[in-house]
Amino acid sequence: MLVLVINSGSSSLKYQLRDVAAGDVLVQGIVERIGFPAEDGGPGIPNHEAALELVDDALRGALAGRGIDAVGHRVVHGGERFAEPVLIDNEITRAIERLNPLAPLHNPANVVGIRAIAEKWPELPQVAVFDTAYHRTMPEHAWRYAVPDWLYTRHGIRRYGFHGTSHEYVAGRAAALLGVDAEAFDGVILHLGNGASATAVHGGKSVDTSMGFTPLEGLVMGTRSGDIDPSILVYLGRQGLSPDEIDDLLNRESGLKALGGSHDMRTLVDAAERGDAKAQRALDVASYRLAKYVGAYHVAVGGAKAIVFTAGIGENSTAFRRLVVDRLGALGVALDEDANAVRSPEPRIISRADSAIPVLVVPTDEERAIAEATAAVVRAAVAG
Ligand code: AMP
Repeated sequence: MLVLVINSGSSSLKYQLRDVAAGDVLVQGIVERIGFPAEDGGPGIPNHEAALELVDDALRGALAGRGIDAVGHRVVHGGERFAEPVLIDNEITRAIERLNPLAPLHNPANVVGIRAIAEKWPELPQVAVFDTAYHRTMPEHAWRYAVPDWLYTRHGIRRYGFHGTSHEYVAGRAAALLGVDAEAFDGVILHLGNGASATAVHGGKSVDTSMGFTPLEGLVMGTRSGDIDPSILVYLGRQGLSPDEIDDLLNRESGLKALGGSHDMRTLVDAAERGDAKAQRALDVASYRLAKYVGAYHVAVGGAKAIVFTAGIGENSTAFRRLVVDRLGALGVALDEDANAVRSPEPRIISRADSAIPVLVVPTDEERAIAEATAAVVRAAVAG
């Protein structure tokens, strides 16, 4: 089955055409600056419909006369309704649209992408794969905030969690590497990219995760603060900062960028090695906070059987992994320095044989997971 995976943002459209059975990527790309004038002053790409025409051109060569069988969309917020990927129809599209207030930067763009495809290829089945869905198994004691009930009942204010497609995929691959059934996997997954989150997995299911109502809660990220005392927001409001200014401050001007002068892990590690104290401080704060979450989630899952690193930093940064694992001595975890230094696209173990908990690196592949989920939903719909 050929599945076109779409990640539609407000001004960009990422795509990958995948042969699901073979596991191959046939073609991939990104259309950027949608809705902006071209950099040379030309007319540019006015909207997502125009962007899809460019995608269509790019696909034609790779398809070589074959047809696309389905489209899979990465949708950021599935609210409380969506616990699984779903076949999209008009009602589902409107249900996703109703979740726009919960993810104002992301869901509207996802809906635009879905409608543009429906216009262009009305016969093509489309599937929505939600970033929040994997975390629908969180128990109430993990998703409740300790605030008055009307915040939840009227405004949907609770913890949702994100990066679910990645956490689920990586948990499955980690289980396979360790030779345990996915349904029997207990562990802590650390998705460390520009956005970062930790998930506690018990019996293959998410039982807690560090992102909450929005992707701002939890770990120190590239430009996001992660956890802070909520009174800081009130204080800043009283000092005269507007809601938009506070939003910008915490989402785009904080995190590693604020602490160390760069949001990029490679830059920070290089600077710290040259003796830059600010960069070192950023690495110390981020690794300390992450190690605290690992300790907490070791408790949440009733004893982790694996600690798993993934995404840009988790897969590539030997130095950051070392900083984190060195803080886990109380759990009896011990790093194998040589294994940690290996660079490889394969899932692997980087802890010593005598480590109380194995530490793994498992590359994530959200597009692959979306393509496979899309194919499964379409096959079930045809069969059913
Ligand atoms: P992602 O959002 O998953 O693409 O991850 C982006 C983050 O991964 C950035 O902080 C990058 O600095 C980091 N990253 C990517 N490649 C490397 C690398 N080779 N070594 C260290 N960090 C890396």
